[in-house]
Amino acid sequence: LGGSISRAIQQMSNATIIDEKVLNECLNEITRALLQADVQFKLVREMQTNIKKIVNLDDLAAGHNKRRIIQQAIFNELCKILDPGKPSFTPKKGKPSVIMFVGLQGSGKTTTCTKYAYYHQKKGWKPALVCADTFRAGAFDQLKQNATKAKIPFYGRYSFDNLLDILSAFENLEIDEFYTESDPVRIAVEGVETFKKENCDLIIVDTSGRHKQEAALFEEMRQVSEATNPDLVIFVMDSSIGQAAFDQAQAFKQSVSVGAVIVTKMDGHAKGGGALSAVAATKSPVIFIGTGEHMDEFEVFDVKPFVSRLLGMGDWSGFMDKIHEVVPMDQQPELLQKLSEGNFTLRIMYEQFQNILKMGPIGQVFSMLPGFSSELMPKGREKESQAKIKRYMTMMDSMTNEGKQLLFMCFAFINNLMAWELTFSFSFFQNSALFLIANVLISDTELDSSNPKLMNDSRIMRIARGSGRQVREVMEMLEEYKRLAKIWSKMKGLKIPKKGEMSAL
Ligand code: GDP
Ligand code: MG
Repeated sequence: LGGSISRAIQQMSNATIIDEKVLNECLNEITRALLQADVQFKLVREMQTNIKKIVNLDDLAAGHNKRRIIQQAIFNELCKILDPGKPSFTPKKGKPSVIMFVGLQGSGKTTTCTKYAYYHQKKGWKPALVCADTFRAGAFDQLKQNATKAKIPFYGRYSFDNLLDILSAFENLEIDEFYTESDPVRIAVEGVETFKKENCDLIIVDTSGRHKQEAALFEEMRQVSEATNPDLVIFVMDSSIGQAAFDQAQAFKQSVSVGAVIVTKMDGHAKGGGALSAVAATKSPVIFIGTGEHMDEFEVFDVKPFVSRLLGMGDWSGFMDKIHEVVPMDQQPELLQKLSEGNFTLRIMYEQFQNILKMGPIGQVFSMLPGFSSELMPKGREKESQAKIKRYMTMMDSMTNEGKQLLFMCFAFINNLMAWELTFSFSFFQNSALFLIANVLISDTELDSSNPKLMNDSRIMRIARGSGRQVREVMEMLEEYKRLAKIWSKMKGLKIPKKGEMSAL
């Protein structure tokens, strides 16, 4: 999506005259891209109309920054779709709230329930989990396992079918160890009451989400909701369901009063456009996103970075927030100036390394930067990627001068990042170094994006020999460099926003 939208805007800004025809072509291109990203057709059409209203062709012709205006308009429109205008119910610590999770089977409800509980537990809440899914065999076991791992109290029962399974597996078990029940409504009510008595302040009800017998499912949701009277119903949506998002969300909204959305599996290939549909269908905000199978792969949803990512712009606003967060105030103006000019030295960077701050694991930091997360650092394969970068480092050691300087700077920082990762503690500036590198690479790529000097055969051979590597591997490294340089070159002229006027554009 990001690629085609940027391309569309790029093409438009290359045109000498921006007339209605050019604008329309651009909008059509963007429409296609948004549809591909699973944004609902109706929403896309509305957006197109709105943008046409906002973007005044006369203004464009008068030499304003056309690209910026249009990009800003698209960005704002997408943000607007994601903002239903009213915040969702927010539970209060110390006061019991019942939160019911709904969504189709496989959408990630059970996982998300645990993540949600764990997230709050870390902040000092007393959460509890209730398994009201009696439909799927193993549902209670799954919740029990998750809850035990996170040390969160749970409530549930094996259904009769489960019991038979269990008995067949453990011949010697005494039957009354298992008190069975298969009415989800009853279990939900019992669970909620139990935990209210135990003064839990966040009682989370996980429900069933079978695909078949849809009418029965929605009826069950209605009954569970009526019986437990939840303060908030959260609709859990798999980001990869595509155009089906709107209907699915709407169907749940019609049977229970959905008040918030959580989008899961944002770590996968899905573009996340379905989130826009879910918000539109439920008139409720997205509150969290799931970014992996693990308990802590869960993030508070933030509209602007999400839209930036959707548009393929990287999470620069989040990244810049971090800069503002961790650089001492009095050093900021000077530093930001240097950053925006791309005017910096190794010394500056090393000085900044002294500002050691805690950041997330390496994958998280990389995922904020365009291009990195998916390719150089595939999720779950960080170790491999690190080995690869280390290999690149050895090759670079065998390079001379020009090429080396650039590549060295680039990978030296990545290498530093890796070293720091061992302690899971990062210097902020090792991260922002990536940003600095971006600036260096940009000036280089501008000269020539496929630097012939750099690609010179004998040079490559020499590097390979010197580092004891295959020519193929050296080529691979150069390709990696070019790829990153290209991504970063898009960031050229990135305006450094001041605190408070954060814009991802
Ligand atoms: P439920 O049927 O709605 O309760 O869904 P589950 O919680 O059982 O999740 C279904 C599958 O999706 C499981 O294999 C989960 O590990 C996986 N899953 C859930 N959330 C995420 C996520 O954010 N990212 C990834 N990669 N997998 C997820
Ligand atoms: Mg489940």
